[in-house]
Amino acid sequence: MASFDSEFSMTVGGCARFTTTTLPVFNPATRGVFAQVPDATRADLDDAIRAAHGAFRKWSSQPQGVRSAALVKIADVLEKNAEQFMALLTREQGKPRAGAEWEILGSVLWLREIARQSLPDEVIEDTVDRRVITRYSPLGVVGAITPWNFPVLLAVWKIAPALMTGNTIVVKPSPFTPLCTLKLGELCSEVLPPGVLSVVSGGDELGKWMTNHPAIDKIAFTGHTETGKHVMRSAAGTLKRVTLELGGNDPAIVLPDVDPRTVAPQLFWAAFQNNAQFCNATKRLYVHESVYSEVLQALVDYARGVVVGDGANPGTQLGPIQNQPQYVKVLEYFEDCRSHGYRFAVGGEVDPNAKGWFVPVTLVDNPPEYSRVVAEEPFGPILPVLKWRDEEEVIERANDSRYGLGASVWGSDLAAVQRIGARLEAGTVWLNEIHQYSPHQAFGGHKESGLGCENSLHGLIEYTNWHTLTLNKQSQFGRQATDYAA
Ligand code: NAD
Repeated sequence: MASFDSEFSMTVGGCARFTTTTLPVFNPATRGVFAQVPDATRADLDDAIRAAHGAFRKWSSQPQGVRSAALVKIADVLEKNAEQFMALLTREQGKPRAGAEWEILGSVLWLREIARQSLPDEVIEDTVDRRVITRYSPLGVVGAITPWNFPVLLAVWKIAPALMTGNTIVVKPSPFTPLCTLKLGELCSEVLPPGVLSVVSGGDELGKWMTNHPAIDKIAFTGHTETGKHVMRSAAGTLKRVTLELGGNDPAIVLPDVDPRTVAPQLFWAAFQNNAQFCNATKRLYVHESVYSEVLQALVDYARGVVVGDGANPGTQLGPIQNQPQYVKVLEYFEDCRSHGYRFAVGGEVDPNAKGWFVPVTLVDNPPEYSRVVAEEPFGPILPVLKWRDEEEVIERANDSRYGLGASVWGSDLAAVQRIGARLEAGTVWLNEIHQYSPHQAFGGHKESGLGCENSLHGLIEYTNWHTLTLNKQSQFGRQATDYAA
């Protein structure tokens, strides 16, 4: 098997696959190219899908225990190579060690926990006359398309439930962060039957080929809302099932009874974890006017102590923006704030000559609700801090978004925290905590933040068809039948 720092191959039908043309992979902390990956052709994709179909019949008919054991083996492989995965993840994604550890070890945990989930047949009726059961049967071949912010974890969120329910899968990582996923594919070929899991790399075009490919049965997609709409339109051609995990503009509401110095670090990380390149990052911070100045000052003080730099350096807390187009996009928000005269409470000055795509942690002091930095998803470390006075008004402002991924409420009055939280339109609402996820907790977006969900039995069901079997026990054709579904 190739090492972690030189050769990267696709995995197609259990074998390494290279291409004549390749795509460069950059280290965002240096802007330098440090690896090349295959650029899949349509023929490569067809081969991967053919192999997935070839493996499907046997894989889907295996006892559940076999598939569960296979997921545990993937977890073992990931854990055994965790140090190398973490270092590679930092290099290709930019995130510092703590974030890489959270993602890789989190992926291990997810695989092991989803290996314990199952969807037993449901007996709907069992009388002397009839027996009706609903089974959850696999869909066939799943195409997984992932983004660049959590490339390993978000691939595992798709691989684990797809394989557990008896599907086979073809994974396409983001062209900006393909390396760990390719490596995972290579390692999995040692523990999975050929064709069960293939990994192909390429640009956005490869994603399009997948979404309209007639032989893919479901697309599991994480990425931008606008891309999600393309995916859904394209998948409609063959009525593929889709799960869409899309963008967010998560509000956080801070009540008047918080202790500013205690809450500030939690709010800071709610917004800036993974350098704010996080679907669930707090992207609008609503602070009650009575504590606004103190909370803002506590955030500024905390932000001044945070170390931004190359994630490979010990002590770095926030890395660079992951890629050049995203860097350009984030800079537009800085420019928009500057041109409208919004005040930067901290940050705001980008050094264009920095070695990597670095942007300073920035807080914008009470910009208007309609400003771009409030209404859109910057996906970078620039956070608007906003004042509120009236509970009804802040709930309305928080919900006034086309997104509905996550939200949070912070305060000592637990009745108020819960009352407000219950009215926020989002898939996950955190109360006095943030970013707590679990393989057993449904995760997904309301409104334009997504369709369907990942994780939990609800997430597992998304990889299945309902399959209802009804038996008339009294029919003249089969009076002896008792339990054909055993
Ligand atoms: P993106 O939409 O640009 O790309 C995501 C993936 O889709 C990549 O693999 C890309 O190559 C592929 N792709 C691009 N165009 C395609 C097309 N027309 N058809 C098929 N595939 C196509 O997103 P990104 O910039 O990689 O990720 C950032 C976005 O992802 C943010 O909006 C963020 O909020 C969102 N996100 C959501 C979640 C969630 O769980 N809801 C998690 C992480 C990120």
